[in-house]
Amino acid sequence: MAEKDYYSILGVPRGAPDKDIKAAYRKLARKYHPDVNPGDKSAEAKFKEVNEAYEVLSDPEKRKKYDQYGSDFENAEAFARARQQARQQYTGYGGRGSPFTTFETSDMGDLNEVLENLFKGFGGATGTRTGARRAARRGEDIQHPVEVSLEEAFNGTRRVLDLQTEVVCPSCQGTGRVRNGICQQCGGQGRTVKPRRLEVKIPAGVRDGSRVRVAGEGNPGVGGPNGDLYLVIKVAPHPLFKREGDDLIVDVPVPLSTAILGGEVQVPTLKGSKLALKIPPETQNGKVFRLARQGMPRLNDTARGDILARVSVVLPVNLSEKERRLFEQFRAMRPN
Ligand SMILES: [Zn+2]
Repeated sequence: MAEKDYYSILGVPRGAPDKDIKAAYRKLARKYHPDVNPGDKSAEAKFKEVNEAYEVLSDPEKRKKYDQYGSDFENAEAFARARQQARQQYTGYGGRGSPFTTFETSDMGDLNEVLENLFKGFGGATGTRTGARRAARRGEDIQHPVEVSLEEAFNGTRRVLDLQTEVVCPSCQGTGRVRNGICQQCGGQGRTVKPRRLEVKIPAGVRDGSRVRVAGEGNPGVGGPNGDLYLVIKVAPHPLFKREGDDLIVDVPVPLSTAILGGEVQVPTLKGSKLALKIPPETQNGKVFRLARQGMPRLNDTARGDILARVSVVLPVNLSEKERRLFEQFRAMRPN
């Protein structure tokens, strides 16, 4: 894992007071928020990085460890601890050949896991001075796509998801070992995939590409917190409304006589109700009327977009003889 300088990510000096860190974070989080930069991958990466930096620097305990060990402090610390305990354990077993050196070159995460499983296998020592304390590791985040209709994005909705979640193996309780060797159910991994049903809430105002976080519903951690579940939202196109930011554009058919003489038409809304719209005399085709605060709600906000009602004049067809004559008279009066 590459070393990350959380201070420079937030643009604050080492030893900056908490309030400066918070202020810097807020500013950057606003700047790179995915809602402000839809579809911008580099802003998204930046947003993640800023959040990661803040998560560590805003926590006095983590910040202290970070200052000591660097950004990989969780592994570095667990590694140091595991090594220490491994030495004690093997010493306790008196001269049993140490396989330790063969692990030295492997990835630290793997090493922790190997050591952890090893200790469990030796059994009974957990909780004592020589027992392996679990190296706390947060579970992975998982993603799940969710398609919603525009009405659902407007109102907010719920979904029951069928998830494949990684869980601690029930057969070996995550140790990967059973009394007589490697656990068969998980093949020694300590984890298995389990189908799981979860009802999630999708807030009003989501858009195409929104990521909705469901805290703690990702993969389970090892002695640490669970990861999070992210719902990746797709909003299906709507037959009537076109979304533009928080505004909704809708074509409203207006009879020719109403466009010319004035009158009233009904505008559909995503609430299902209709709104009366006054059409002034001599309204041109394509004219747009704004119906304030009838558009999409904004995510986690009280702000709302508008409905933009676009006049679509409907020309009469199947004219009667009398109507045709009236149009002839009209043309005679207005040859151009
Ligand atoms: Zn197992």
